[in-house]
Amino acid sequence: MTVQSVLDEIRERPGTGEVIPIIDPVTEEQITEFTDGGAEAVDTAVAQAKAASESGVWKNLAGSQKAKVLWRIADLIDENATVLAELESLNAGIPQNQAEVIVAVGSEWFRYYAGWCTKIDGIAHDVNTGGLTGVESHQHAYTLKEPYPVMGLIFPWNGPVFNYCAKLAPSLAAGCSSVVKPAEETPLSALVLDRILAEAGVPDGVVNLITGYGHTTGAAITAHPDVDKVAFTGSTEVGREIVKASALSNLNKVTLELGGKSPVVIFDDADLNMAITMAGFGTFVHSGQACVCGSRIIVQRGVYEQVVEGIANIANNLKLGGPKEEGSMIGPLISAKQLTRVMGYIDQGKSDGVEIITGGQRLDRRGYFVHPTVVTNVDPATSRLFQEEIFGPVVTILPFDTEEEAMALANDSTYGLAATVWTKDLGRAHRLAKELQAGTVSLNCQMVFDHSMPFGGYKQSGWGYESGKAGLETYLQTKIVWAQM
Ligand code: NAD
Repeated sequence: MTVQSVLDEIRERPGTGEVIPIIDPVTEEQITEFTDGGAEAVDTAVAQAKAASESGVWKNLAGSQKAKVLWRIADLIDENATVLAELESLNAGIPQNQAEVIVAVGSEWFRYYAGWCTKIDGIAHDVNTGGLTGVESHQHAYTLKEPYPVMGLIFPWNGPVFNYCAKLAPSLAAGCSSVVKPAEETPLSALVLDRILAEAGVPDGVVNLITGYGHTTGAAITAHPDVDKVAFTGSTEVGREIVKASALSNLNKVTLELGGKSPVVIFDDADLNMAITMAGFGTFVHSGQACVCGSRIIVQRGVYEQVVEGIANIANNLKLGGPKEEGSMIGPLISAKQLTRVMGYIDQGKSDGVEIITGGQRLDRRGYFVHPTVVTNVDPATSRLFQEEIFGPVVTILPFDTEEEAMALANDSTYGLAATVWTKDLGRAHRLAKELQAGTVSLNCQMVFDHSMPFGGYKQSGWGYESGKAGLETYLQTKIVWAQM
């Protein structure tokens, strides 16, 4: 497949709704368009997934055979890495070298979960229940781990290949069938991945790609009576809609990977060069459009000025540009809507009297580029810039004096996705790892990831886990079997 063939193919996707333009965020020009799938396309896809599950064609395939298919998918992703990275860059504005890394991480999802295909097992106990009833009774009891028959997989635009692979690899390893909906802004790479799955040997009907808007097509998936579970990655706001849809339909199970407003706590004994470099990277990468971006930096007063200056220097030296522009390190925001949202937060901050150390405006060029922005003099109790997920290149920096004050500021959030501590005092680092209310805590490192480790949010950042063995369990339900001996 080529970039052009994908741009053509998406126009032919089934749908009954509105025509949705796909805009290049670098040029603000339309690159192709497609039709919103709508409820009818969802009905067809769910029926196909259900039929595939009932046939057992994938679910009952031996683990070793499933593993071979997953390895083949990984190899085919690598073979098609160039076109996938080009699409990721074109569609989401991600610099080409970063898009290549995302694709490489994508194929590794399948290699990691290929290993689990042969290791799905339960527990077994011989149980004497006579002790409870006084009547002699002896059973053998065991658990079976069974795939959810039909999964609804819905994910956002910030790393489409990553998100597709993060959901499909464990879903296939577990033996589920699924309907899959990428974000309406970035559906292109999913067409290539869909083709790769078929070529690798995933039987027809097991994975069913749906393209369309969230409020129409996505909502039709979450409300469908034959969808057994929804695994969702996206905003906390839409996460609530998914839970409501479950409550109002068939009470389908829900796993949610949601937003964040992650604190980075820097103590005055930290390796400051490393802390500033990583905190700068960790907040501005992908123009701040990563769920784990450290968008609240909390700094001990003795090194506060130095850290503000260091982060501002990074902000000023990051070269923004399109994926094909020489030396470009950071791309644009994904859409005009996101640009309006981010500038709205900045304008709100200005009228609240915050201090903008650098940035605070769009770049004077085409494309949805916002200058990396460093904000201080923020009131944590009232400022929306400190409390809400902006999902753009905007970081607030606050000073603290004591460890207690740092923890109070760090935990002062409805979110709980990730947190970072920079200090050379290892006792303090591990003590704070326990105190921080976040699903992931990084000590003297930031933005680290491996497929083997679980990932999930505390508080309003999510329910359940992705990645690692816990991520496989997301796609399995447990049956308990009792047998009289
Ligand atoms: P979003 O919530 O607007 O959309 C995510 C997906 O949900 C899209 O496919 C969209 O079409 C669909 N959707 C929208 N409304 C729907 C509805 N009513 N019913 C069903 N589906 C619906 O999120 P976004 O703007 O695409 O992505 C940014 C958000 O994703 C941020 O909040 C970010 O933190 C979060 N995110 C979280 C993680 C994580 O692992 N925790 C990872 C990446 C992104």
